Amino acid sequence: MHVEILAKSSGDAPYNVIFACSDNRLTVTCNCKAGIFGQLCKHKTELMAGDSTRLFDASEQGKFDSITAIVARAPDVATTAAEIAETEKFIKASQAKIKGVKKRFEQMLTEGLQLNPE
Ligand SMILES: [Zn+2]
Repeated sequence: MHVEILAKSSGDAPYNVIFACSDNRLTVTCNCKAGIFGQLCKHKTELMAGDSTRLFDASEQGKFDSITAIVARAPDVATTAAEIAETEKFIKASQAKIKGVKKRFEQMLTEGLQLNPE
């Protein structure tokens, strides 16, 4: 089985996300810039997560539905997606924390640091 789904890009031309299934193994590739360099892209991520808003147009829906049924047979998808979401949440919280610490340090430097007596 080989299914090609057109995914919206930031430009006019869609990207091709290709789902290939044989011997109970599913591979997914995308021809966007990240995909070509072997990186996980938002097109693959969103389609694998069942997000149909990434579809180029309504004519892709039937193919998407058939792929979604196949993806549901891969238990690693949900656990890995959850791990990505959890890690991204941690990064976001860490970015907020470092921003606060830097702001406080800058304020300390501006207002004057308390020194211990000599
Ligand atoms: Zn892509």
